Amino acid sequence: MNTNMEKVIIPRAEHSISRSLLSPNGVKVLYKLREHGFIAYLVGGGVRDLLLGREPKDFDVVTDATPNQLKKLFRNCRLIGRRFRLAHIHFHDEIIEVATFRSTVDAAEAAQEEFAEALPEETVEAPTEAEQLEDERDRRRRRHHHGPPILKSEDGMVLRDNVFGTPEEDAVRRDFTVNALFYNIADFSIIDHVGGMEDLRNGLIRTIGDPMVRFTEDPVRMIRAIRFASMLGFNIEPRTEAAIEALCGTINKATPPRLYEEVLKLLLMGAGERTYQMMRHSGLFEPLFPHFDAWLSRESDCYPHVRVGKALEWADEQIGQGIAVTPPLLITLMFGEYLEEKVALLRDEGLPPQQATDAAVAAFAGELAPTVSVPNRVLVAVRDILNMQQRFQKTPGRNGRGVVARLAFRDALQYLRFMEQLTPPKRSLADWWERFAAQQSEGVESAPPPKGEAGAAEAPKKKRRRRRRRRKPGGAPE
Ligand code: ATP
Ligand code: MG
Repeated sequence: MNTNMEKVIIPRAEHSISRSLLSPNGVKVLYKLREHGFIAYLVGGGVRDLLLGREPKDFDVVTDATPNQLKKLFRNCRLIGRRFRLAHIHFHDEIIEVATFRSTVDAAEAAQEEFAEALPEETVEAPTEAEQLEDERDRRRRRHHHGPPILKSEDGMVLRDNVFGTPEEDAVRRDFTVNALFYNIADFSIIDHVGGMEDLRNGLIRTIGDPMVRFTEDPVRMIRAIRFASMLGFNIEPRTEAAIEALCGTINKATPPRLYEEVLKLLLMGAGERTYQMMRHSGLFEPLFPHFDAWLSRESDCYPHVRVGKALEWADEQIGQGIAVTPPLLITLMFGEYLEEKVALLRDEGLPPQQATDAAVAAFAGELAPTVSVPNRVLVAVRDILNMQQRFQKTPGRNGRGVVARLAFRDALQYLRFMEQLTPPKRSLADWWERFAAQQSEGVESAPPPKGEAGAAEAPKKKRRRRRRRRKPGGAPE
């Protein structure tokens, strides 16, 4: 590690970050810490993005206040994570994450655990029963002083894995130089322990310390290198790149749920197509998606599978226009052709359409489970998106409203839009359903669909009610 690198301080006059660019809540947190005599720095992606003139996704703060001190200082504070306690300071529409400076004793173990725990809140905040039990046992042990004496701090953190550290130690345990810059609220300077400013100027993603060591500690950093390079339009520094080439086969040492989260972030940042190409090129894609990669390498009817790239480009366009692409939609877009092929094979074996889709998605989930585990609720939605494509052919058929009310309706419609862009139809079914859904939400009943093949174009314009036929007293209809 670059622990012997010189600390450089860039005064306010020599960099571009001004307080007005920070989130007001972030500024509040920084100032409050400062007022109470603590060190308070903004760190990570926030500093990096502000220096590049980009809008940061989130604001992370580091401090020398301990989690317990944070809890006392901020009323709106929740401590999360079991081992690596982070404080989440809750505001109306934002959470500011505050961590205590750390040094890492067992870097490899800690990286796996620490950053795995930095998954989205729902993952972090839903401790398993076993974890809750362990926490409770822990509390009791501490209360009665029976616990192993130096294993845990008063905050309950496992000292073997995590001890508080100095700012410098905290900087060098981070992944890339451009991610380890501190913005100091005390004098508005930037503190650079790792040469991050220069790499930022030169557009380089470089690990802090020996890339072979850092990627071995935590293989997910290889995917992150690609994410940042692609997101920022940076190059990966040659030694870092060579290490990825050498170690790409070890990516599966990271846990499948964590890999799912990282891959998702990678593909949903608006440059998914480019990133996908970089992943394939770097050798990281194959171990993550071995079956799919093998399929990609096989041509179908002498044509390469180009739909994946097109689907990701389409997703990038949507994201660029501010239209959300959900995880299930992304997965259906990316694996759609692959899944449809599986469905077709199962149909040939005699399965009815829905069952064939269910079985295809189940088989796909089974293939992925050892490497990238897609949560069940996402798989269910993928299945629905695919199944609804059939349903869309009938406009609206029986229970059109039911179709619109389905949870996956929006995603399914977007998928249909993509498919229509790929092979433009004479009349757009997606338009039809879009209008139908709009009318449903306005409470207007639709006219029966035009007869004929699915393309039934025009959405109904006027409310028209079918009158019930009166029955003659005798019973037979008129
Ligand atoms: P983004 O803008 O995508 O959020 P980010 O740089 O903020 O990018 P995060 O995943 O939010 O990335 O992580 C915040 C910071 O934590 C990083 O900037 C980096 O300093 C550190 N970090 C995150 N993951 C790792 C890791 N696997 N190894 C070492 N440091 C990490
Ligand atoms: Mg971040």
